[in-house]
Amino acid sequence: MPKAKTEQAELERRRKISKTMIENDITKGKNNPRYGKYHSKKTKQKIGNSLKGSIPWNKGKIGIYSEKVLEKNREVHKGLILSKKCKEKISRAVSGKNHHNWQGGIGKLPYSWGFNNQLKKEIRERDSYQCQFCGKFGKCIHHINYNKKDCKRKKLINLCVGHNVEANYSREKWELCFTVLNELRGI
Ligand SMILES: [Zn+2]
Repeated sequence: MPKAKTEQAELERRRKISKTMIENDITKGKNNPRYGKYHSKKTKQKIGNSLKGSIPWNKGKIGIYSEKVLEKNREVHKGLILSKKCKEKISRAVSGKNHHNWQGGIGKLPYSWGFNNQLKKEIRERDSYQCQFCGKFGKCIHHINYNKKDCKRKKLINLCVGHNVEANYSREKWELCFTVLNELRGI
Protein backbone atom coordinates (compact mmCIF):
# COMPACT_ATOMS: atom_id res chain seq x y z
CA MET A 1 0.00 0.00 0.00
CA PRO A 2 1.39 3.47 -0.82
CA LYS A 3 2.50 5.41 2.23
CA ALA A 4 -0.04 8.21 1.88
CA LYS A 5 -2.87 5.75 1.71
CA THR A 6 -1.68 3.86 4.77
CA GLU A 7 -1.52 7.08 6.66
CA GLN A 8 -5.01 8.01 5.55
CA ALA A 9 -6.31 4.62 6.59
CA GLU A 10 -4.63 4.87 9.98
CA LEU A 11 -6.17 8.27 10.55
CA GLU A 12 -9.57 6.95 9.53
CA ARG A 13 -9.17 4.01 11.91
CA ARG A 14 -8.32 6.27 14.83
CA ARG A 15 -11.22 8.55 14.01
CA LYS A 16 -13.60 5.59 14.01
CA ILE A 17 -12.36 4.33 17.37
CA SER A 18 -12.62 7.79 18.82
CA LYS A 19 -16.14 8.23 17.47
CA THR A 20 -17.28 4.91 18.88
CA MET A 21 -15.80 5.72 22.25
CA ILE A 22 -17.48 9.10 22.37
CA GLU A 23 -20.81 7.69 21.20
CA ASN A 24 -20.75 5.03 23.86
CA ASP A 25 -19.50 7.48 26.42
CA ILE A 26 -16.61 5.26 27.35
CA THR A 27 -13.78 7.71 26.95
CA LYS A 28 -13.90 9.46 30.27
CA GLY A 29 -13.40 8.58 33.92
CA LYS A 30 -14.59 5.21 35.09
CA ASN A 31 -15.84 4.32 31.62
CA ASN A 32 -12.39 4.50 30.18
CA PRO A 33 -10.97 0.98 29.97
CA ARG A 34 -7.71 2.27 31.39
CA TYR A 35 -9.35 4.11 34.33
CA GLY A 36 -7.23 3.71 37.44
CA LYS A 37 -4.66 1.69 35.57
CA TYR A 38 -1.13 2.83 35.05
CA HIS A 39 1.61 1.64 32.81
CA SER A 40 4.58 0.14 34.62
CA LYS A 41 7.91 1.90 34.39
CA LYS A 42 9.12 -0.84 32.05
CA THR A 43 6.12 -0.44 29.77
CA LYS A 44 6.56 3.33 29.71
CA GLN A 45 10.19 2.83 28.75
CA LYS A 46 9.11 0.46 25.99
CA ILE A 47 6.53 2.91 24.64
CA GLY A 48 9.06 5.71 24.83
CA ASN A 49 11.65 3.67 22.93
CA SER A 50 9.26 2.62 20.24
CA LEU A 51 8.14 6.20 19.73
CA LYS A 52 11.63 7.63 19.57
CA GLY A 53 12.30 9.24 16.24
CA SER A 54 8.79 8.63 14.98
CA ILE A 55 6.62 11.52 13.95
CA PRO A 56 3.58 12.13 16.19
CA TRP A 57 0.46 10.95 14.41
CA ASN A 58 -1.15 14.39 14.75
CA LYS A 59 1.83 16.44 13.60
CA GLY A 60 0.92 18.97 10.94
CA LYS A 61 -2.57 17.55 10.50
CA ILE A 62 -5.44 19.94 10.19
CA GLY A 63 -9.04 19.30 11.09
CA ILE A 64 -8.46 16.51 13.58
CA TYR A 65 -9.42 18.59 16.62
CA SER A 66 -12.79 20.20 17.11
CA GLU A 67 -12.99 23.97 17.52
CA LYS A 68 -13.92 23.41 21.18
CA VAL A 69 -10.73 21.48 21.87
CA LEU A 70 -8.64 24.02 20.00
CA GLU A 71 -10.18 26.86 21.98
CA LYS A 72 -9.42 25.08 25.24
CA ASN A 73 -5.84 24.50 24.18
CA ARG A 74 -5.46 28.16 23.32
CA GLU A 75 -6.76 29.16 26.73
CA VAL A 76 -4.42 26.81 28.49
CA HIS A 77 -1.51 28.34 26.63
CA LYS A 78 -2.72 31.82 27.46
CA GLY A 79 -2.66 30.82 31.09
CA LEU A 80 -6.37 31.28 31.62
CA ILE A 81 -6.87 27.76 32.82
CA LEU A 82 -4.46 26.59 35.47
CA SER A 83 -5.02 23.48 37.46
CA LYS A 84 -4.86 23.69 41.24
CA LYS A 85 -1.73 21.58 41.21
CA CYS A 86 -0.11 23.89 38.69
CA LYS A 87 -1.00 26.98 40.74
CA GLU A 88 0.50 25.40 43.84
CA LYS A 89 3.66 24.66 41.90
CA ILE A 90 3.95 28.27 40.75
CA SER A 91 3.24 29.54 44.23
CA ARG A 92 5.99 27.36 45.65
CA ALA A 93 8.36 28.48 42.93
CA VAL A 94 8.02 32.18 43.68
CA SER A 95 7.70 32.25 47.45
CA GLY A 96 10.26 32.17 50.21
CA LYS A 97 13.80 31.64 49.03
CA ASN A 98 12.67 31.69 45.44
CA HIS A 99 11.06 35.13 45.71
CA HIS A 100 12.96 37.91 43.94
CA ASN A 101 12.89 40.00 47.12
CA TRP A 102 13.96 37.22 49.47
CA GLN A 103 16.24 38.70 52.10
CA GLY A 104 17.37 35.50 53.71
CA GLY A 105 14.43 35.00 56.02
CA ILE A 106 15.16 38.04 58.18
CA GLY A 107 11.45 38.81 58.36
CA LYS A 108 11.13 35.97 60.80
CA LEU A 109 13.98 37.08 63.06
CA PRO A 110 12.76 38.05 66.49
CA TYR A 111 12.70 41.70 67.40
CA SER A 112 15.13 42.59 70.11
CA TRP A 113 14.01 42.69 73.68
CA GLY A 114 14.29 46.47 73.70
CA PHE A 115 11.75 46.88 70.93
CA ASN A 116 8.72 46.96 73.17
CA ASN A 117 5.45 48.85 73.29
CA GLN A 118 6.97 51.56 75.43
CA LEU A 119 9.66 52.28 72.86
CA LYS A 120 7.17 52.16 69.99
CA LYS A 121 4.93 54.63 71.77
CA GLU A 122 7.89 56.91 72.36
CA ILE A 123 8.86 56.91 68.67
CA ARG A 124 5.26 57.45 67.53
CA GLU A 125 4.93 60.43 69.84
CA ARG A 126 8.32 61.77 68.80
CA ASP A 127 7.14 61.63 65.16
CA SER A 128 3.64 62.96 66.03
CA TYR A 129 1.97 59.82 64.64
CA GLN A 130 2.86 61.09 61.19
CA CYS A 131 4.59 59.23 58.40
CA GLN A 132 7.94 60.94 58.24
CA PHE A 133 7.99 60.51 54.50
CA CYS A 134 4.55 61.69 53.36
CA GLY A 135 3.08 63.30 56.48
CA LYS A 136 -0.01 61.11 56.57
CA PHE A 137 -1.19 59.43 59.75
CA GLY A 138 0.84 56.39 60.56
CA LYS A 139 2.06 54.29 63.46
CA CYS A 140 4.36 51.75 61.87
CA ILE A 141 7.77 51.79 63.45
CA HIS A 142 10.38 51.10 60.83
CA HIS A 143 13.95 49.97 61.46
CA ILE A 144 15.95 52.24 59.21
CA ASN A 145 18.90 49.87 58.79
CA TYR A 146 16.64 46.79 58.70
CA ASN A 147 18.42 45.47 61.76
CA LYS A 148 15.65 44.55 64.13
CA LYS A 149 18.10 44.30 66.97
CA ASP A 150 19.22 47.88 66.55
CA CYS A 151 16.81 49.90 68.64
CA LYS A 152 18.68 53.17 68.84
CA ARG A 153 16.20 56.05 68.62
CA LYS A 154 17.84 57.44 65.52
CA LYS A 155 17.54 54.06 63.78
CA LEU A 156 13.77 54.09 64.18
CA ILE A 157 11.20 56.08 62.25
CA ASN A 158 7.42 56.29 62.19
CA LEU A 159 5.78 55.54 58.84
CA CYS A 160 2.34 55.10 57.33
CA VAL A 161 1.30 51.59 56.33
CA GLY A 162 2.00 52.24 52.65
CA HIS A 163 5.53 53.49 53.14
CA ASN A 164 6.27 50.81 55.67
CA VAL A 165 5.50 48.27 52.95
CA GLU A 166 7.40 50.20 50.30
CA ALA A 167 10.44 50.33 52.53
CA ASN A 168 10.79 46.59 52.04
CA TYR A 169 11.86 47.21 48.48
CA SER A 170 14.87 49.21 47.27
CA ARG A 171 16.23 49.00 50.79
CA GLU A 172 19.43 50.95 50.17
CA LYS A 173 17.49 53.92 48.85
CA TRP A 174 15.14 54.01 51.82
CA GLU A 175 17.88 53.51 54.36
CA LEU A 176 19.71 56.55 53.04
CA CYS A 177 16.51 58.57 52.79
CA PHE A 178 15.35 57.89 56.36
CA THR A 179 18.84 58.34 57.80
CA VAL A 180 19.01 61.80 56.22
CA LEU A 181 15.47 62.64 57.36
CA ASN A 182 16.32 61.81 60.97
CA GLU A 183 19.61 63.68 60.76
CA LEU A 184 17.87 66.76 59.41
CA ARG A 185 15.54 66.68 62.36
CA GLY A 186 18.47 66.44 64.71
CA ILE A 187 17.63 62.95 65.92
ZN1 LIG B 1 3.80 57.63 54.12
